[in-house]
Amino acid sequence: MSSRSTKITRKEVDRIRGDFPMLAVEMNGKPLVYLDSAATSQKPRVMIDRLERLYSHEYARPQEGYSLSKDATKAFEGVRQQVARLINAADPAEIIFCRGATEATNLAARAVEHDRLGEGDEVLVTEAEHHSNIVPWLMACHAKGARVRAVPITSSGDLDLDRLEPMLNDRVRLLAVNHVSNVTGAVLPVEQATKLAHDRGIQVLVDGAQAVPHLPVDVRAIGCDLYAGSGHKMGGPSSVGFLYGRKDVLEALPTAEGGSMMVGNVTFDEFEPKPPPQKYEAGEPAFGEVTSWGPAIEYWQKLGLDRIAAYERAIAREAADALGQIERVRILGAPTDRIAVVSFTVDGMPAKDVEQALDREGIAVRAGTLESQPQLRALGTEEAVRASFSFYNTSDEVTQLATALSSIVA
Ligand code: PMP
Repeated sequence: MSSRSTKITRKEVDRIRGDFPMLAVEMNGKPLVYLDSAATSQKPRVMIDRLERLYSHEYARPQEGYSLSKDATKAFEGVRQQVARLINAADPAEIIFCRGATEATNLAARAVEHDRLGEGDEVLVTEAEHHSNIVPWLMACHAKGARVRAVPITSSGDLDLDRLEPMLNDRVRLLAVNHVSNVTGAVLPVEQATKLAHDRGIQVLVDGAQAVPHLPVDVRAIGCDLYAGSGHKMGGPSSVGFLYGRKDVLEALPTAEGGSMMVGNVTFDEFEPKPPPQKYEAGEPAFGEVTSWGPAIEYWQKLGLDRIAAYERAIAREAADALGQIERVRILGAPTDRIAVVSFTVDGMPAKDVEQALDREGIAVRAGTLESQPQLRALGTEEAVRASFSFYNTSDEVTQLATALSSIVA
């Protein structure tokens, strides 16, 4: 592995690609060009091996008790420590494991709904949100006679803090803001946004689904109260993620879901929740998923999140430049800081047709609403095609995409 200070080289990417078995498969008789890492990443061999070993030799429910079960607890809690270090949380107990960022925002929304939402209150989001950071808040607000309002984004896809500030009025109970847009790849100023909200006593949830796998994340530097993350977008199995909550915030919030594992004494009148994180982890833990995610986190960290970020900023720039030169292709947004994602429309051609034509060439992109209808509308379209990148993608793949797209639109 090269030193952290140097750039990820082509030679290194070739070696990396050998660690991801799926990158060697074919699609429609062509070598797979996987450009859908924003939906879910491909998986390193170390994670797959861990999953196999776990289910073959180590499987038991993590709990105090017999030896296998104690070992399972150790492995599970070890990954909690890894995630805490990854995002610089102060305490592993601030990490709640769940199925993904969607479940994380839902857990948070349910807790916030019960804790503080009332008639006439507001939850502030931005136009750059994924449906997963809109719908849970709509549900919570609808239940309590509150409403969701959205801070507009600029035509380049950036968040203008001057538009945010006046909307932070005394009815706002929470600001829910995306860290990196899954449509434009824009890195939003979450640290400044958090400061503005905190100056008015408003708590902040950051949706880090597209940030955690792509750049160094420091929740204490951001200062946010809650942070949602997705592990399956970072080499983890198909259904793993987390909700970070600062200790005092988690202690104060009510439980979101009830049942086994999260409770101490239970009677027919009441129950006594365990302290966080268990208070939020009702039912069978995602032990297999979480534990196997561990080696993938280590893989990303060994590569260096700073080096990954530099590589993925460069490849997104290359892709935006190459695709932007093609006639009838319009790139969505031109953010000041773009990472890993480029979305576009083709004038006169439905997004699904573009996706299907690229599919025939072995190129996997995503098309449609991108689970972000309000964001697409803010950028002037109802649908788009998205190419999203990881450190295992190459400049050659960008060229392949641009060449295929050129002949599709010709
Ligand atoms: N937020 C953003 C910005 C996303 O891009 C996604 C996934 N595309 C999600 C939330 C949902 O994440 P998950 O798939 O882990 O539920």
